[in-house]
Amino acid sequence: MTTTAAPATAPFRFFDVQVVRTRRLSPSVVRVTFGGERLAELASGGRDQRFKLFLPQPHQDRPVFHDTGDGWYTTWRAQDPAERPLMRSYTIREQRHEPREFDVDFALHGAGPEASPSAGGPASRWAAHARPGDRLTVLAPAVEDNGGVDFRPPAGTDWILITGDETALPAIAGILSWLSPGTHAKVWIEIAHEDDRQQLPSFADTDITWLVRDAATAARREPVLDALRAAELPEGTPYAWIAGESGTVKAVRRHLVRERGIDRRAVKFTGYWRRGASEEELLAELTAAAPAPEED
Ligand SMILES: Cc1cc2nc3c(=O)[nH]c(=O)nc-3n(C[C@H](O)[C@H](O)[C@H](O)COP(=O)(O)OP(=O)(O)OC[C@H]3O[C@@H](n4cnc5c(N)ncnc54)[C@H](O)[C@@H]3O)c2cc1C
Repeated sequence: MTTTAAPATAPFRFFDVQVVRTRRLSPSVVRVTFGGERLAELASGGRDQRFKLFLPQPHQDRPVFHDTGDGWYTTWRAQDPAERPLMRSYTIREQRHEPREFDVDFALHGAGPEASPSAGGPASRWAAHARPGDRLTVLAPAVEDNGGVDFRPPAGTDWILITGDETALPAIAGILSWLSPGTHAKVWIEIAHEDDRQQLPSFADTDITWLVRDAATAARREPVLDALRAAELPEGTPYAWIAGESGTVKAVRRHLVRERGIDRRAVKFTGYWRRGASEEELLAELTAAAPAPEED
């Protein structure tokens, strides 16, 4: 397994992109494929490569945004909220060079052609109704080795532990496809429907447990945590990567560090969304606590 420290810089750049095609992968996930003139300059680092997308307001046909380079965040915040594009975090599921395209898998969380118009959030609603030609702006990496890749197992790692939900599925797919032969990975993935399972090709030795959420008990049960508590974990030094709903992520991290005795430095955890809070609300909390990081 190749291991590298995260670089100090996060060389991200704005790209205007348009939808090339969409495909409903499963009941809860739609894949949107993007193309764009300057995509030769986009360089995904693979694995859990995150990026920002900027959505137009409902009355706009493209995001109204002025790229001011390093000062973009201040410019964006200063824009009229009624005109300012909505910013959301996503994962580059796959980048291709011939033709130049990249895929993003959107969890619909309630949005969809058959759902009520207010279901989901702006990004999932946008994805559910996306059509070829629809335009977006993305802030995405221009060099492969960038700070938007978090999955970085240190030297000495014996095995990999991964947990996530539908929102983390693109990152998990990217991570598993990156792992080297001979690596052992134990993976727990929570999904809404049996049919949300995906093929997750890997050269590694993967042991994947799919946990289908029971809608009736979803508010009270923690399928990933329950499954982990019952699991027998391999010997040796693990590296854990945890993503999904913030509360679940925290509970899983606590279990791994406190009850399993895993070194906290070997647990990379990221709340991808929080029940009851939009990404604006999460960002407002973060920016009240600290200045925005370089690329987001
Ligand atoms: C680094 C990173 C990478 C991510 N990659 C992906 C990705 O590749 N694919 C993906 O689908 N998501 C991904 N996410 C999660 C995504 O950014 C959030 O789900 C986001 O809130 C969706 O925006 P929205 O406009 O649809 O909903 P928001 O306006 O942000 O939220 C509206 C409401 O929906 C709820 N909500 C948000 N997400 C979910 C959910 N999944 N299930 C149930 N309720 C939800 C919120 O709690 C809120 O009440 C990623 C997040 C991060 C931080």
